[in-house]
Amino acid sequence: MTAVGQRSLHQAAVDQFQRAAALVDLKASYQEILAQPKNEIIVNFPVTLDDGSMKVFTGYRIQHNNILGPFKGGLRFHPDVDLDEVKALAAWMTFKTALVGIPFGGAKGGVTINPADYSKEEMQRIVRRFTHALGSNIGPDHDIPAPDVGTSSETMDWVMDTYANVSPPGFRHAVKGVVTGKSIEVGGSIGREEATGRGVLYSLRHWCGETGARLDDLKVAVQGFGNVGSHFALLAREAGCSIVAVADHTGTVGNVDGIDVDKLRVWANENGGVAGFPGATALTTEELFSQECDVMVPAALENQITAERAKVLKCKLLVEAANGPTTQEAEVVLADRGIEVVPDILANAGGVIVSYFEWLQNKSARAWSFEDVDDRLRDLVWKAHDGVVERRAELNCTRREAAYAVALDRIADVYDRRGIFP
Ligand code: GLU
Repeated sequence: MTAVGQRSLHQAAVDQFQRAAALVDLKASYQEILAQPKNEIIVNFPVTLDDGSMKVFTGYRIQHNNILGPFKGGLRFHPDVDLDEVKALAAWMTFKTALVGIPFGGAKGGVTINPADYSKEEMQRIVRRFTHALGSNIGPDHDIPAPDVGTSSETMDWVMDTYANVSPPGFRHAVKGVVTGKSIEVGGSIGREEATGRGVLYSLRHWCGETGARLDDLKVAVQGFGNVGSHFALLAREAGCSIVAVADHTGTVGNVDGIDVDKLRVWANENGGVAGFPGATALTTEELFSQECDVMVPAALENQITAERAKVLKCKLLVEAANGPTTQEAEVVLADRGIEVVPDILANAGGVIVSYFEWLQNKSARAWSFEDVDDRLRDLVWKAHDGVVERRAELNCTRREAAYAVALDRIADVYDRRGIFP
């Protein structure tokens, strides 16, 4: 979101890739292409509400780049969704898919809405009408949405069903792959729901391998207890980490001896959030960031790690489970303080990686086992980390710059070979 007087998030995303572009001498023409999305689709669509009144909603689908494959990225339903935010999120998808080596480009969409304000029936009508408004701008070999903040497998099932129903009868099953992140029963992949959290944990394991740290010695603080934060916290605790603080939109809770994440999840489901959890003490938002810990995992929204917060962080490592959680000013502070950062396009790529597996399963009408999904997820995440470590040593730069360098090299290579049409 860009409030008045605040910097554009999209401009921040452009500055980010351009720092790496300078390191790898990316051609100016490719920089110009990547500095803006290919297509910006804005739709205003009416929906009848339960009380019989009608409301017009605004939805977006920003298609950033498709030189490596179909546009790919989530749909965000949140009151702060606007054009600038979705443009930034779409660009990050292009670099994420290129970095982890899957044959997709980058896109993102969303609706400016607080889903909590609407009934389930209203949400279903909103999702279906939004899908209809997007029309042939999405498609299984063109642009493939997925869940993001405020959307879920249920949303994806509705998108797929709507798209299938307006497709010619003979194609209604062939178009299943128009979205990923569907529920397993309607063609989703086993392991997709927790894939982003699992990828974050594989990122942390890789860092442990690099530095000799042990998961069961690590104290971890997590901001965000939605799909990504909650699955990561559960898996990290299972792997031996101590989860010392968790925050969500309702509050922050901490326990120096480690939070029982299973119980916290049950509590959050029953009470709408982590606030009031009896197995921990209430902390202020700012206390989360100054909490004694080894690893801080922002798993919520953008711009959460500000310069002020970066100054008080006690962790050695920041793992960006959210997209764009660290401001440019904070990045400078983190570098000065020697706090390592596993960047978002690497740390949270597990979601889109398993989306790719879902898309492959839909294409071949086969269902993979959990082991198949998990082994391949781990291999792709670790391979991407290895590539980043190697490129970082060559360029003597930050992990984020190295991640962008790997992604930009792949994109530039394909532009060089394909050329610019006509
Ligand atoms: N919304 C997720 C992300 O930001 C997943 C995207 C996808 O699976 O296409 O990476």
